[in-house]
Amino acid sequence: MGKHKSADCKQCRREGERLLLKGDRCNSQKCALLRRKTAPGMHGAAVKKQSEYAVRLREKQKLRRIFGISEKQMWHCFERAHKTPGVTGTLMLQLLERRLDNIAYRLGFAASRKHARQLVKHGHFQINGRKVDLPSYLLSPEDKIAVRPASQKSFAAALAGAKEAQYPAWLKFDPAENTGLILAVPARDEIDYPIDEQLIVEYYAK
Ligand code: SF4
Repeated sequence: MGKHKSADCKQCRREGERLLLKGDRCNSQKCALLRRKTAPGMHGAAVKKQSEYAVRLREKQKLRRIFGISEKQMWHCFERAHKTPGVTGTLMLQLLERRLDNIAYRLGFAASRKHARQLVKHGHFQINGRKVDLPSYLLSPEDKIAVRPASQKSFAAALAGAKEAQYPAWLKFDPAENTGLILAVPARDEIDYPIDEQLIVEYYAK
């Protein structure tokens, strides 16, 4: 990840889509994509015909950017999905959705996946009563995520956010205990970002 303050917005401009990388700002009139729809750089406005390879590459990059993961992590995710019986593209998206940083974001503990990743790395969460500080940790149905007791005070705003968040049907938040529960692995139609995972499967299967 670059350090430039507009690096997140440039990623959206590069993909030509709102990837929702900056929390509340993304749903406001301040969204950079509302003001500049062209790709960044000198030749960003040029209309280019994309090759089939480029279309697949861009789809893979888009998914990588949504989750803020490295190429290596993306490849491992594909490989694991590929080795599992089932529809590779759907399995790949399900693996990404089950990441701890994503679930913390989905439950409203953080405004963006990037912010959630920081919170996880700082050791603010526990899974089934045990501290976990690995953003890529995969949660399964029945797993319970909670803010660690030592972090509850500094987490008051985030917990309020979690109470108001519109979380998906495969997750449940208990406002009395400030805990989240994984009810199920998300079905494909419960995964809401615009991605054609088949293009990504074709990219890696080349
Ligand atoms: Fe920036 Fe968010 Fe808009 Fe993307 S969706 S351009 S990250 S404000």
